[in-house]
Amino acid sequence: MGRMGSSRVRLASAAILRKAGPVRIFNTLTRKKEVIKPLKDKHLGMYACGLTVYDFAHIGNLRTYVFEDVLRRVLEFNGFRVKHVMNITDVGHLTSDADTGEDKMEIGARRERKTAWEISEHYTELFLEDAAKLNIERPQVIPKATQHINDMIKLIRLLEKKGYTYVTDDGVYFDTSKSKGYGKLARLEPGGMLPGARVEVNPQKKSPSDFALWKFSPKGTKRDMEWDSPWGAGFPGWHLECSAMSMKYLGKTFDIHCGGIDHIPIHHTNEIAQSEGATGRKFVNYWVHAAHLIVDGRRMAKSSGNFYTLSTITDKGYDPMSLRFFYLQAHYRRELNFTYEGLDAARNAMNSINEFVRRLGEYDGGKDNVGVRALTLKTGARFTKAMNDDLNTPEALAVLFRFITHVNRLMDERRMSRANARMVLELMLVLDRVLGLNLKRSLEKEALPEQAEKLVKEREQARKAGDYVRADAIRNRLRDEFNIVLEDTPEGVKWKKRS
Ligand code: AMP
Ligand code: ZN
Repeated sequence: MGRMGSSRVRLASAAILRKAGPVRIFNTLTRKKEVIKPLKDKHLGMYACGLTVYDFAHIGNLRTYVFEDVLRRVLEFNGFRVKHVMNITDVGHLTSDADTGEDKMEIGARRERKTAWEISEHYTELFLEDAAKLNIERPQVIPKATQHINDMIKLIRLLEKKGYTYVTDDGVYFDTSKSKGYGKLARLEPGGMLPGARVEVNPQKKSPSDFALWKFSPKGTKRDMEWDSPWGAGFPGWHLECSAMSMKYLGKTFDIHCGGIDHIPIHHTNEIAQSEGATGRKFVNYWVHAAHLIVDGRRMAKSSGNFYTLSTITDKGYDPMSLRFFYLQAHYRRELNFTYEGLDAARNAMNSINEFVRRLGEYDGGKDNVGVRALTLKTGARFTKAMNDDLNTPEALAVLFRFITHVNRLMDERRMSRANARMVLELMLVLDRVLGLNLKRSLEKEALPEQAEKLVKEREQARKAGDYVRADAIRNRLRDEFNIVLEDTPEGVKWKKRS
């Protein structure tokens, strides 16, 4: 990389950040965009509700995890040190979020004739692989609910001591009437209900919004996953799991808690009630929620045949980065409709960014262009400003694409220097720390298989000797056997994999 280019962008990143202003994020608690201010120095604790590992993650879940990854990257880009904790929900998430129905893990186990433990291990591994393919930075801590049962029991004991609990035939419940400000996150009506919401009535619950902290194993049965407790054998409530794990790793009060919007009225509402009940302190400063992904205009569901996973898409030949780009084109607080036409458009856009990056790396230039230098820094500042404004990814990408079009034209007309190109390249790589589109991959020269390389050389010799029949035969062989197409350019023979 050109010295001049790299030092300029590096020196300029402080200026880029200064011009971009502070990071503002929409806080569900206050319904306002707020400047992110850490509890401690430049450190931020961030908790994300993890997947319930009874099945594959679908591309809706993955949208939320990519959003959380972008949030973390934007914060880190702005100089914060983020401790990212994402749990694995491997017990206790019932089919209804409101404590009725079956444990999803048991459903998965029955479906596949395995134990809940095997199901958990299998889908946790696949989920973390999907996350890595989508270039999601691995959270520093990935706690499993089943490994924190003691922490959960301690938390229930504390709530019991403070008078927040009561016991019914099927479990230990949290009494929401004792909780000050219950429902403030979702702005629930008194009594804890969203207007118009109906819930199944458990006659032993004092109020419909009360929720289970601990559920007893059904009488006469033995679950795959159950533990002894002071109240009887059973398993923890799903909301309690997140309170126990988040406070264990991030403290009684921490900075950021995120998840999908479906978690606002029940799961996160109940996390707040029990955590604040137990500690007497504010639980979380910023609540950040992503809107849902829908498919072909409908909610994704197995029964509708529109349940897509990352492999559904990669099996059709799409690169995971095309899906990541597809997500980024929409603002995270807007519902996003997945269609293959939309994914095709994202793939085209991804190809053009990758081609741009590759071209910048190879460009050998014309005259130095002062305008390019100024525009590069301005683009960096505009891009960052958009990202810092509640992660406005569509705006940031629009800024980037206008810039790409402009610089491509300058390169067509050779109106910029090699050093200019290196500087633009460096900006692209710096901004990719936020986007996470793995742009540096386009700079890596893929090696040809050894035999193919031999054939390319033989063809060159044949061409030089004027034996075009043989040259064409070799070209066809490369295409059919190695899926490689050759292109004769003024700079010599180039090859690429056929897509
Ligand atoms: P779960 O496995 O149900 O606990 O969900 C894991 C994460 O995915 C949570 O943050 C959910 O809010 C989120 N989520 C669930 N469905 C969707 C969807 N269709 N689009 C976006 N996020 C979703
Ligand atoms: Zn949670």
